[in-house]
Amino acid sequence: MTKEHILVVEDEEDIRELIAYNLEREGYRVTQVESGEEAISQALEAEPQLILLDLMLPGLSGLDVCRELRARPETADIPIVILSARGEESDVVTGLELGADDYMTKPFSPRELVARLRAVSRRGRHGVSDDREIVSIHDVRIDKARHEVSLGGKPLKLTLSEFLILELLARHPDRVFTRNRIIEALRGDDYPVTDRSVDVHMVGLRKKLGPAGRHIETVRGVGYRMKR
Ligand code: CA
Repeated sequence: MTKEHILVVEDEEDIRELIAYNLEREGYRVTQVESGEEAISQALEAEPQLILLDLMLPGLSGLDVCRELRARPETADIPIVILSARGEESDVVTGLELGADDYMTKPFSPRELVARLRAVSRRGRHGVSDDREIVSIHDVRIDKARHEVSLGGKPLKLTLSEFLILELLARHPDRVFTRNRIIEALRGDDYPVTDRSVDVHMVGLRKKLGPAGRHIETVRGVGYRMKR
């Protein structure tokens, strides 16, 4: 079996070494680089299966790297997990909107990191084109074709927006969606959707879900996700 290859981009040596050590111990092959410029050249040259990308880098920032990698056809599909420090939520939002797949806030435990990377590589970048007609998670069952949702076997009456938001989150558990991503998913509704109305729909949706609403998590400063 060939080892999954991960490119770790982090200028702080201690953190980078620690990440590499833990990933290697889990059976990954790791390439370490310390700048955005090297990240791009290594991504092109070594074709890693996943990139762990620190946001705060000297020279090209993590966001610049993210934008550049998504713009190039050779690297557009490589999953990217952003590493951020606390307080960088707005950069995380930008990163996710530039096409990063997930993010982790430092400090994190090696175990948490490995679990997250496994989830990201499992769903890949094409997990988005999921065409399941029935999505089940926790006690919630979503029937796309019939446009029906049930909770513990009992039908639930949702508005179209609530239905679309729930479907989006439930199809991609553990994935954080920024408000803009949610707004994109709601387009087609015949009224303009704003950041604020996403929050309003979320309140309505959680209320209707009752105790199951706790599975939808507000990720402060970033967006929403449904926990697995
Ligand atoms: Ca850094």
